[in-house]
Amino acid sequence: MFEDIKPLFDNYPEEKELFVITGPCSAETEDQTLTTARQLAANGIKIFRAGIWKPRTRPGGFEGVGEAGLPWLQRVKEETGMMVSTEVANRNHVIAAVNAGIDLIWIGARTSANPFAMQEIADTLEALGVDIPVLVKNPVNPDIDLWIGALQRIYNAGIRRLGAIHRGFSVYGKHLYRNMPQWHIPIELRLRHPNIPIIHDPSHIGGKRELVAPLSQQALDMGFNGLIIESHCSPDEAWSDASQQLTPEVLNFILNTLVVRRDKQTTENLTLLRQQIDRIDNDLMEILSKRMQVSREIGKYKKEHRMPVVQATRYNDVLRSRVALGKEMGMDADFLKTILLAIHDESVRQQIEIINDRD
Ligand code: PEP
Ligand code: MN
Repeated sequence: MFEDIKPLFDNYPEEKELFVITGPCSAETEDQTLTTARQLAANGIKIFRAGIWKPRTRPGGFEGVGEAGLPWLQRVKEETGMMVSTEVANRNHVIAAVNAGIDLIWIGARTSANPFAMQEIADTLEALGVDIPVLVKNPVNPDIDLWIGALQRIYNAGIRRLGAIHRGFSVYGKHLYRNMPQWHIPIELRLRHPNIPIIHDPSHIGGKRELVAPLSQQALDMGFNGLIIESHCSPDEAWSDASQQLTPEVLNFILNTLVVRRDKQTTENLTLLRQQIDRIDNDLMEILSKRMQVSREIGKYKKEHRMPVVQATRYNDVLRSRVALGKEMGMDADFLKTILLAIHDESVRQQIEIINDRD
């Protein structure tokens, strides 16, 4: 699979260049689109983005200007010489974008999660027989097979200029990130299919301006192939994703401070695997700390109800069921018991601390 992938563009990036796609989340008006584009082009940007069909989570949001935005993108292309790109989500979008001479299309996270929509887009591309670069965002849910399946449908339709966009994954609740990076997922994609370039989208992962630079640097450190970043001439007034968009000026500053690592190391796979371990250990720490917090809550409950900290039957059940589960996952029973006992001891210690707390 994916043996004969071609570069997204033959003449971009050049040897020492960083691959960057940037522009507003949405094309709102002709003026906003062109003003942003002119500023970006003046800073040397080569590929402009602007969404004109915007799949929104809930009705009532700005759903894009639709086909009316295509002539604006054509003007951007004519006037600035930049290549232009937009998001497509169905057959009509693909036809309209290709007919308008759009240089690259991407498929959004809500669409790549839907195999029927992906197949419809793939079939349309195949029928048109065009050699257009296509990027597939990761689906909203952290399912690598669904992501690879989406890429595969486009590849099977004859598209060879194909890449993936890492835009993070939805989780319930409020977090530092708008969409969790779950770096191990794009890394697994890289390990399974090293030919597919991976473009990082710090805007939709971070959801906040101040996270764009650190996320971008991390992605470059991890060997990603480029960035797609939202930029708007007046970000605070943007009709969609205002808090994560940057002015072209700030974006330019960030791009100039990023350190691009291009040394191809023979130890690349080892580095990737180690990074994966680092991430997983971070996740383990987070999960352990969450478990301890819940344990302390239980401690408070037991204190209020004057219950003893350790209930032997409950503990035996916990141990037995967890060891059985872990064994099913291919782990050793003694190893599991050691870990579970250590966790349990620490929970008990914390609960005793709470019970003895006098205030
Ligand atoms: C976008 O790129 O503006 C967009 C809608 O992104 P996503 O599909 O990642 O939410
Ligand atoms: Mn957006």
